[in-house]
Amino acid sequence: MITIPDPPKPMEANLQNCASSLGILDRLPAELLHEVLRSLDFQSAIRFSRVSIQGKNILYSLPAYRDVIKHAPHALAALSQTKLLHLHSASELHNALRNERCATCPEYGVYLFLPTCERCCWQCLRSNPTRRVVSPTAAAKTFALSPKMVQRLPVMFSIPGTYGVVCKSTQKSYRLVSVSAAKELVVSIYGSAENAIEAIIHRQPNEQTARYLQAIFSDSTCLDSLMIPDQGNARVDRYFGMASIPFPSLTTPDIVEHGLWCKGCEWTYKQYKDRRLSAYVIANIVPTDCNPDRVLFGMVRRARSRIRLSAHIRHCYGAQQLLADQGVQEG
Ligand SMILES: [Zn+2]
Ligand SMILES: [Zn+2]
Repeated sequence: MITIPDPPKPMEANLQNCASSLGILDRLPAELLHEVLRSLDFQSAIRFSRVSIQGKNILYSLPAYRDVIKHAPHALAALSQTKLLHLHSASELHNALRNERCATCPEYGVYLFLPTCERCCWQCLRSNPTRRVVSPTAAAKTFALSPKMVQRLPVMFSIPGTYGVVCKSTQKSYRLVSVSAAKELVVSIYGSAENAIEAIIHRQPNEQTARYLQAIFSDSTCLDSLMIPDQGNARVDRYFGMASIPFPSLTTPDIVEHGLWCKGCEWTYKQYKDRRLSAYVIANIVPTDCNPDRVLFGMVRRARSRIRLSAHIRHCYGAQQLLADQGVQEG
């Protein structure tokens, strides 16, 4: 995932007593001005705040800006460095901050997927094709887009760093587009998802394309993507992690969460790798038709909120084993 070691410090708006004006915008009622600023993209809003002290004070008086700047400076810096800041408003970022659920499954979303400004969990980043970024050329091929159509897709520039499940370092910045944006574009061109799929398959009649499109257009937001049977056709994601960053949640005012990971699940996976987990235990944890390694490793990488973790521990095999061991030692 993206890491921003030293994000810019938030500026304080504490110049209330200085005489300042917004010029022609002073004629607008405050409520209307606030509504405009909430809907304005973040980059334009920051520029607006630099115009005058009054502008800065108004912007920083809005909870949406205050919360995002205070709690998510890393995400703002990442959006700026990937050249995506002009695509998202304070309202969108604030909504993501005030929620905790992954946008594409029912689990806790510990990351922000930058192209859509939505929360995302590790598993969806791994397996949901709409949470991927690809080169414009690959998007054109998959969605049968003309060069002119591809130009309509918002482009992001990856930040050089260490990415991927195996943590590989790259010094290159890639031009990337999101599969999600390409999906939206073809739906707008062809009028509906069904028409889009039909038109693309007509141009590229092969089974692999059909299966991939089906995965992209299927609506599975109510399913836990970790526990669904293996698809067997997952494409290698060479840009994994380049469009997402750890993102806090602020579902209750003043209680910020950054996600918690279960030690019990980590222990279970280690037991499995050491071949110390019985077939009976594996069958109780891993659904039929699922690869145990994928599921058990996914459980290790699954982040949870405090409430979700305490509910999980009650039925987590590894956590219960660790608690039982601790009880024996203390007794
Ligand atoms: Zn998810
Ligand atoms: Zn667990």
